Amino acid sequence: MGIIDSPQDFQNLLLKWYRGNGRHWIPWKLKKDGSIPQLGESISPYGIWIAEVMLQQTQLKVVIPYWEKWMKIFPTLTSLAETDLENILMIWQGLGYYSRGKRIHQSSKILVEFVGKDKEQYPHFWPHQIDQWMSLPGIGRSTAGSIISSAFDLPTPILDGNVKRIFSRLLAIKRTSRKDEKKLWEFSSLLISTLSPRDFNQALMDLGAIICTPTKPSCSFCPLQKFCVAYAKYDPDDFPKKEMTKIKPLQEIGIGLVFNKNGELLIDQRLESSSMAGMWEFPGGKKNTNESIEKTIERELKEELGIVVKVGEKLLSFEHSYTHVKLYFTAHICEWISGDPKPLASQKLLWVSPDKLFDFPFPAANTKIISELYKHLSIGNKKL
Ligand code: SF4
Repeated sequence: MGIIDSPQDFQNLLLKWYRGNGRHWIPWKLKKDGSIPQLGESISPYGIWIAEVMLQQTQLKVVIPYWEKWMKIFPTLTSLAETDLENILMIWQGLGYYSRGKRIHQSSKILVEFVGKDKEQYPHFWPHQIDQWMSLPGIGRSTAGSIISSAFDLPTPILDGNVKRIFSRLLAIKRTSRKDEKKLWEFSSLLISTLSPRDFNQALMDLGAIICTPTKPSCSFCPLQKFCVAYAKYDPDDFPKKEMTKIKPLQEIGIGLVFNKNGELLIDQRLESSSMAGMWEFPGGKKNTNESIEKTIERELKEELGIVVKVGEKLLSFEHSYTHVKLYFTAHICEWISGDPKPLASQKLLWVSPDKLFDFPFPAANTKIISELYKHLSIGNKKL
């Protein structure tokens, strides 16, 4: 283990810091009555599992209101397993990476079979092994380790972004190659406290969030300072080496807000095989070079729905950033001229009254269009 001769010394210093400074208020780590679980006491993994998946690509402060809403609407594993994917996507709106919601739904059906509908309130009926959790869609080793240690206080190591950063600095590892990653996992397994694994893992995560932050870590307040090679020899900010931020390509997208004679609007549901599968959106697509955005809308609606439209006034333009690309959306109000709309590039099409749009799950970019449309149509925005 190199620089750390005594894991016990490491554990004691970290746990002491955690007792006075940790985030003991995280709602899914508490018992139903709001109290902190005792050493060795099991709590239900249900809320922890949902939170861990939400946290995979999203920050804690963003996740908390989504998680609280989720627990009100789906308070039990059974209620989740028995609902439709569309209800899950409604709650997931705005959280991004929508495939996570789909995987939670798939996992809930597997878990309910394993645990049993009438036994889910008893933690010991839930899976306790890393492999069992990792066999569920979308659960990796660190998520599995965190669920098990948080729910059952068992010594399963973790290596999420925060922990990887702390260990890279402690060991002065610049780049985390596959070999280094193995070393970091071994480090996590060797250091974990067997007496207090739940608090140990949480302490690491909290230290990464509060003290050993991505930039300008507060080393003078760090309980692990004496073990830290990056602190002793280098600039901790340099560990691990940050990936160069790639400039995202910008793609222009034309959107058609097609109204029929009854004032209803055409929406389509994304294909099962696409990203954001199952979400609803307004029809449109990518602009070709040397094409006007009006022409793009006409062409896309012909190709994807088989309809002819007259492109009218522009409603709005805005930029929206995704992980690998930036999209520049321009939405126009359109009049439906001819052709029966067909879902040639989607699962389903629907004509809906504009005031019913929020009954459907839309990705974040589309909700901006809906907000502007409501202003344009002078519709009250109680749901926005
Ligand atoms: S001493 Fe600084 S760099 Fe090292 S673990 Fe602590 S906060 Fe991180």
